[in-house]
Amino acid sequence: MKRILFITSEANPLIKTGGLADVTGALPKALTGDDVRVILPKYGCIKPEWVEKMRYITNFTVDLAWRKQYVGLFEMEIDGIIYYLIDNEFYFRSPHPYGEMRGDIEKFAFFCRAVLASLKVLDFQPDILHCHDWQAALVPVYLHDSFKNDLFYASMRTVLTIHNLKFQGIWSRDALEDIFGLNEKTYFREDAMEAGGAINMLKGGIVFADRVTTVSESYAEEIRTPYYGEGLDGLLRARENVLQGIVNGIDTDLFDPATDQSLAAPFSVSNMVSAKKKNKAALQKDVGLNEDKNCLLIGMVTRLTEQKGLDLVTCVLDELCGDAIQLVVLGTGEMRYEDMFRRFAAHHPGKVAAVIGYDDALSRRVYGGCDAFLMPSLFEPCGLSQLIALRYGALPIVRETGGLKDTVEAYNEFEQTGTGFRFANYNAHEMLAAIRYAERVFFDAPAAWRAMAKRAMKKDFSWRVSAKKYDMLYEQLVPRAKRQ
Ligand code: ADP
Repeated sequence: MKRILFITSEANPLIKTGGLADVTGALPKALTGDDVRVILPKYGCIKPEWVEKMRYITNFTVDLAWRKQYVGLFEMEIDGIIYYLIDNEFYFRSPHPYGEMRGDIEKFAFFCRAVLASLKVLDFQPDILHCHDWQAALVPVYLHDSFKNDLFYASMRTVLTIHNLKFQGIWSRDALEDIFGLNEKTYFREDAMEAGGAINMLKGGIVFADRVTTVSESYAEEIRTPYYGEGLDGLLRARENVLQGIVNGIDTDLFDPATDQSLAAPFSVSNMVSAKKKNKAALQKDVGLNEDKNCLLIGMVTRLTEQKGLDLVTCVLDELCGDAIQLVVLGTGEMRYEDMFRRFAAHHPGKVAAVIGYDDALSRRVYGGCDAFLMPSLFEPCGLSQLIALRYGALPIVRETGGLKDTVEAYNEFEQTGTGFRFANYNAHEMLAAIRYAERVFFDAPAAWRAMAKRAMKKDFSWRVSAKKYDMLYEQLVPRAKRQ
């Protein structure tokens, strides 16, 4: 049995701001053959009902450059998984896990140091330190640095998973010695942590981790190109022998249309046709759309940011509203997009509904009630929404990028295969053409549409397959003979 430690800034159900928490919450449970534990900060904003269940272990101090900082260590168990929590009120008490960048840089440098120091205190020697995103990316760097000569750490191997390359943890050069306590000569170099004259934490992780993964095979390829590489494509090309894409799954118990109590009519493949009609009518009523059976109801559940391709929607939505479609958008994010959808809803009452906010129950009613689900992302490392949409029989209309390309199979009307509609270029009229193709199938070939929705629901997007791939990766890093 291999010992794996997930090092992460968020994990469901303790703290979630995005898809990262879904992965670090679900994947440990799916790695059934291994001893997987999770370590994360003990944020002040974790709900009291969870905090009550935590058990205090001990406290000690760590050095962070010239600082000496308190580390409290807590432990708890959820669904058979052990969680460790790093306590330090100075860093973690704020009402949100993330804040301004300077503060976050120091906070997560502290976290990485505290994690490594905790292992010795716990006398827990993982075979693999599985680090997630830039917040945990200093772990491989510190392992290469201050912990290098300590035998306790000598056999540990590191995996870094990039959930979104856009976020890298960048600060000015002085952070290196003053915050991280790392030597300038060794680390302010192009083959270490320097990037464009600044210090880049994610880059440090990519350079020093034994393996690097990202959350879909296509994204693993894309990030080696300048268009998607966010300035690190050269490095990622240089490291391509250790870079691998493993697509995310979804928690199929959590997202199950057959048991989902948020739905007006829960359903499975056998009764999906009649149940989806009821869910569609209920959703239309719920969000103030015309109660019209004869339209293609398209849904979006998304962060409202540039990444999600909303500029394409802006370009063609007025034109699209001339068709027999409706659009419901549930999202929060940048004000310009929030306002834009509010404006569209005002211009097209009954046809466009915009719910600005975060609402888990409503999101499920959108997935369950819509005929189609639109995701025209500029880039998409994996994407969970399209997986949920497929499971709830809402056919995705996606741009062929990252995980969208890997998980949504294009409809082929000759062979009657596929689970959705795709377009290649980041171009509003290409998107419009894909939506209109979906309209044609929906209105002119309803039997084919229903068959496709059933195919979509039957696809297996559980963690089972991907967990096996992670396990194989760990296996390669930890030869059997070395395990105790
Ligand atoms: P990202 O992690 O880039 O935001 P993903 O598609 O990977 O995008 O994951 C988004 C997850 O968050 C999905 O489960 C989606 O249903 C959920 N979500 C996004 N926005 C909202 C919202 N406004 N209300 C409810 N759930 C949301």
